[in-house]
Amino acid sequence: MLAPGSTIGVLGGGQLARMLALAGARLGLKTHVYAPGAEEPAFDVCAARSVAAYDDYVALDAFAKSVDVITYEFENVPAETADFLDARKPVRPNPRVLAVTQDRLVEKQFVQGLGIATAGFADVPDAGALARAVAKLGRPSILKTRRFGYDGKGQAAIRDGGDIGAIFRGLGGAPCILESFVDFAREISVVAARGLDGEFRAYDICENTHEHHILARTTVPARISPETAAKAVECARAITLSADYVGVIAVEMFVVGAGSDETLIVNEIAPRVHNSGHWTLDGALTSQFEQHVRAVAGWPLGSPRRHGRVVMRNLIGEAVEAFAEIAHEDGACLHLYGKKENRAGRKMGHVTYVEAE
Ligand code: AMP
Repeated sequence: MLAPGSTIGVLGGGQLARMLALAGARLGLKTHVYAPGAEEPAFDVCAARSVAAYDDYVALDAFAKSVDVITYEFENVPAETADFLDARKPVRPNPRVLAVTQDRLVEKQFVQGLGIATAGFADVPDAGALARAVAKLGRPSILKTRRFGYDGKGQAAIRDGGDIGAIFRGLGGAPCILESFVDFAREISVVAARGLDGEFRAYDICENTHEHHILARTTVPARISPETAAKAVECARAITLSADYVGVIAVEMFVVGAGSDETLIVNEIAPRVHNSGHWTLDGALTSQFEQHVRAVAGWPLGSPRRHGRVVMRNLIGEAVEAFAEIAHEDGACLHLYGKKENRAGRKMGHVTYVEAE
């Protein structure tokens, strides 16, 4: 258990790192944020910063020397960077987790290997393989780059009549997977944590609505049966156990069918704090950020108990311009990320409402 005054190193300087740093500060822990850009949201609130590239090994070595443990706010940390750091200070969650979650093909194989359902998928290394994959999985289906996709980037739908070669080239000719289209009833996520001692705790299940492939709204609890909720938590538990995971994890799932016919399909694993868990800042006894800090610092996990019914709405792009009205609203818990530049599709803040159940 790291003593107060210890330093947590965080790779990445966005809003997730910012909220991790704030949570750490509350427990008397310092944060050293390492990111390539000079103007990162987390730099406003951390104790120390390194502005350097992820392959700057001199800077990485100095960073490792200055911290007690290392974590990250995004899964595309290069494997060499994670291994280099892990040889110097513990990287949590461990670098093997990164190798699995930064490649959609490896991730799907890992999940299926645990006996957990995923969408049907096929490896698509080239355009020829895509034609065979479409013949197997049918249309509509979704082509996704294996690596570096987020918020719908690196994805294309394959519909009737679509030109397969052009769609493949449209994703840059990068190695892809094709996924069968899931006709889901709703999208949910399990935000959970595993401590250094193996303790596992999950928040109540989040129900997520996306607009333009970006999370727009999370409501908790999700409108699913208690049995489905319990199964969703068990999936997350099995994933963390098999990966010897330490930290907060989010597992995104599709719910297919309704009532007693509900089934779950795992879509994606995020090895980090997650946008669908932002509600925990105001709606739970321990926020996901504090929970992650506790886990990576070897502290006991906090209680994930919910205060009430919760709605979290992202403030994306120009939606943040309503900040003054939101600040006037009774019961609105407003969070702004301090980003100087606003762009369409950019996450600028979020607002949470908690109501007694
Ligand atoms: P992802 O980047 O994999 O999280 O996908 C972003 C969003 O695209 C998901 O939240 C879904 O709304 C949608 N989506 C992704 N994969 C599928 C699929 N196989 N079937 C239906 N919708 C999907």
